[in-house]
Amino acid sequence: MKKQNENLTDAAILRQKAEEILKARKDKSPLVSDASNADTLKLIHELQVHQIELEMQNEELVIAKEKAELAEEKYTELYDFAPSGYLSLTKEGVIAELNFVAARMLGQERSKLTKKRFDFSLSIDTQTTFNLFLHDIFTSKVKQSCEVTIATEGNLPIYVTIEGIVSQNGELCSLTLIDITKRILAEEQLRFQAHIIDNSPVIAAYHDKDLNMQWANKAYQKTTGLSLEEIKGRKCYEVWNLSKPCRGCPVIAAIETGVNAAHELTPDNQEHWPETQGYWLSQAAPVRDKQGVIIGATEFAIDITERKNAERLIQGKSEEIAAQNEELKQANVELIAAKEHAEESDRLKSAFLTNMSHEIRTPMNGILGFSELLKEPGLTGERQQEYIRIIEKSGARMLNIINDIVDISKIEANLMNVDIKDSNINEIMEFIYIFFKPQVEEKGMHFRFKNSLPTKEAIIRTDSEKVYSILTNLVKNAIKYSREGEIEFGYLKKDDFLEFYVKDTGIGIPNDRQEAIFKRFIQADIEDRMAYKGAGLGLAITKAYVGMLGGKIWVESEEGIGSTFYFTLPYNSEPKKETIDPQPASSEKNDTIRKLKILVAEDDEVSEMLLDVTVKMFGKEILKARTGIEAIEACRNNADIDLILMDIRMPDMGGYEATKQIREFNREVIIIAQTAYGLTGDRDKAIEAGCNDYIAKPINKIEIQALIQKYFGE
Ligand code: ADP
Repeated sequence: MKKQNENLTDAAILRQKAEEILKARKDKSPLVSDASNADTLKLIHELQVHQIELEMQNEELVIAKEKAELAEEKYTELYDFAPSGYLSLTKEGVIAELNFVAARMLGQERSKLTKKRFDFSLSIDTQTTFNLFLHDIFTSKVKQSCEVTIATEGNLPIYVTIEGIVSQNGELCSLTLIDITKRILAEEQLRFQAHIIDNSPVIAAYHDKDLNMQWANKAYQKTTGLSLEEIKGRKCYEVWNLSKPCRGCPVIAAIETGVNAAHELTPDNQEHWPETQGYWLSQAAPVRDKQGVIIGATEFAIDITERKNAERLIQGKSEEIAAQNEELKQANVELIAAKEHAEESDRLKSAFLTNMSHEIRTPMNGILGFSELLKEPGLTGERQQEYIRIIEKSGARMLNIINDIVDISKIEANLMNVDIKDSNINEIMEFIYIFFKPQVEEKGMHFRFKNSLPTKEAIIRTDSEKVYSILTNLVKNAIKYSREGEIEFGYLKKDDFLEFYVKDTGIGIPNDRQEAIFKRFIQADIEDRMAYKGAGLGLAITKAYVGMLGGKIWVESEEGIGSTFYFTLPYNSEPKKETIDPQPASSEKNDTIRKLKILVAEDDEVSEMLLDVTVKMFGKEILKARTGIEAIEACRNNADIDLILMDIRMPDMGGYEATKQIREFNREVIIIAQTAYGLTGDRDKAIEAGCNDYIAKPINKIEIQALIQKYFGE
């Protein structure tokens, strides 16, 4: 009604304006009026007014049309270039109309898209979502929305949110497409990052600037055994059950300094950190707000326990390897030395063989040659005695050489054992004196010895057999290389060693040979060398023995005046409390021996004969036994036997066993074992079995005499 009124008013205004315009036109060219035809005039007037009205309306329409065209242009521009895509779809999902943005999203020209199905441009997994959405639009008639992915050939997928509503006629629907690809990708990225951090074996956390923990990943929760809720708001060191923050804490450092920090948190550098919590490498980075103010720090830490253990293992291993290397180096040095030694030995081998062959052949020659001569008929007794003496000497020389060869071979093969035990030096000295006295006196020379310590202080820990050998060699040489004068031997205590000497008034040794004589096969450069007959091994053996016992050997000598050989032995005795012989012994000792009852236990006839003859001078009665059992028997039946010379190897029962059994009923009888082996250790075995002493075969007259003197001298 109101509208109608308004229209009427507009029409009245239009009529009024048209009337005014007509009046103005008539004033300019007045119309000849015919008063008689008033109706006609009125009609003309009406027509004219109407014409003007039409003209005016036309003008307005032109303006309105222009306005409408302008508006349409603006609308089209807006429609086409709006930031969102616009589409009109039929119920079947066919595109009726779409703007440029929508066409660009679908990756084709607009003209090619109309009349095509929209869902064909969607990824397969979102097509169903879209079709449901389309169905809902047309059935519910209210605004619907969904998210789909536009997946067109050759283009990256575009994620879009679609809002749609059915249009007024109900045949079409209008869709608005908003590109949310950036948001979806950003969300995806965030999800990935969160996934990575949560599933990382590295423990990660965020601490605010007051060091309260605000977030921790799953690894952190698992390691501490606490849930995120339990961790949140607590101090890191509390979460780790520690009494205070760690020294060098990287989170504190990052918050305080504003730069990244790293630190190893281990029981080694944190006294409050238990070993069970392992070794950690922690790194922290400061976090700032938009204004750049530090608001906290992120922390990432990795468990380096295994690495540390491995490092320790490697360290241990490398030390082991270094030690092995050192050992190898040492072994190398030793091998080089051994190689050089082997080469040297090789060189000396031929010299050795030449020497030995000569040394053995010479006495053999003597023995065989003179044995042959003995057979000659009509030999005078004097001649016979002379030949026998030569045979005897050659035999002794041969035995010496064999003994020396055995000894030097053992030394070189490193088979010579050292048997250290309490040894009475004074006893050894006395034995040597008794042993060599006849030989020295036979040469018309004086023989003396001097013990400088009382017996209780003369016991040192050494290998007594080696000491015997050393002194024997030196005294033997003194006798061998002297024609007149005297031989004296003895020892002095100096600091923590005993210094022994063997002094002679013999031929002496030239200065330039005084070192060389201690080497194998070396003899001093003496003119009538052959006169002294030696293999040149004695001093080499002696020197080796002295070395084995921890001493030194040297010589002081003057040609034509004499020589003094010195050697030292470590003095390492504990003085014995019991005093047996308070006075040091000297050469002035009574050597008369009472006549003895002797049992010779020996299965070999020749040896037995030899022994028989040798001991005859000391015996008032000599009994014989061929086996160990016979020896025990003889001993049982003769309680007054003074001495048994016990062979070690006999049929039925050996000498050691026989001795053991004799000792069960007779502890007094002196038993001296005799063996043919001449090896180190024989003496010990004999003593262990219950023998008093030991003698090596072939039994030397002087040696046995010395032993008898030792046990029965008065
Ligand atoms: P051998 O006496 O068998 O030749 P040794 O090794 O015992 O061998 O001695 C080596 C050399 O040292 C002897 O050949 C000799 O020239 C010299 N010699 C050893 N002892 C004496 C000594 N007391 N007086 C002089 N020369 C000696």
